[in-house]
Amino acid sequence: RVTVSPMPAEPGGTLPHGGALVVIEDITALEEAEAQRRDFVANVSHELRTPLTALSGFIETLLHAAKDDPVARTRFLSIMEREAARMNRLVGDLLSLSRVESEERRRPTEKVDISAVLNGAIQALAPVAEARNVTLLRDGEPGPKRVSGDPDQLTQVFSNLIENAIKYGARDAQVRVTLGSVEHEPTLRGPALRVVVADQGEGIEAIHLPRLTERFYRVDTHRSREQGGTGLGLAIVKHIVSRHRGRLKVESEKGKGSRFIVYLPLA
Ligand code: ADP
Repeated sequence: RVTVSPMPAEPGGTLPHGGALVVIEDITALEEAEAQRRDFVANVSHELRTPLTALSGFIETLLHAAKDDPVARTRFLSIMEREAARMNRLVGDLLSLSRVESEERRRPTEKVDISAVLNGAIQALAPVAEARNVTLLRDGEPGPKRVSGDPDQLTQVFSNLIENAIKYGARDAQVRVTLGSVEHEPTLRGPALRVVVADQGEGIEAIHLPRLTERFYRVDTHRSREQGGTGLGLAIVKHIVSRHRGRLKVESEKGKGSRFIVYLPLA
């Protein structure tokens, strides 16, 4: 869209004979952003409505049909607890996403040791790994590796990736977290730290790879829900990595497991 507004003459000004102000707006980009916003609101509403409908249904049953049945009561209450936890996770992830998006232009400056961040994330996820009999392995270069960043957000990046590797990787298998560095990461134009989170799961078909970091995009919706996923984890990862001027790369082949690779510019 092009808007032309006549400008009056300004004696002695930059436009002594008058002129025109031409504004060129890229409407396609604006329309696309607006469509994305509408989709997002529709998705959030749908995601919130699913557990809410279940909750209302069980409340209704507990008040009437199952009023005097203690066994049913316990079972329904535990389902309600799970649905409430799902809503809680969804709202938590929505808040994280909106916080990261609003801070995206401000570069974080704290010195963060990624080695310690990885150890913390691995330790916190040990019970999740144990429940699926997954062995969490940590290897790579020893010693601290520092980047400029936000320690909480970087912890969230690696927790999300390691948790996904446990959830979508194979049971009774390994998840390997490797920390290293590269002399020159072309897209970052310099030395970078590299963290690889590799699983031995079914892997992801190539057609899904470009869309994985979209909000609410899931390869297998049923499996994601069953694992308690919100569909926002990788969107949050992408935004945090981009706020740190880093890069996220995914390598996966159906049947061969996945590798999620994070590059962060070295401090
Ligand atoms: P979710 O909450 O569903 O896990 P994410 O944004 O974290 O959402 O991931 C989006 C989707 O990407 C998941 O639903 C899953 O289908 C796929 N995915 C993520 N990590 C892996 C992995 N390590 N192996 C296979 N698929 C994965």
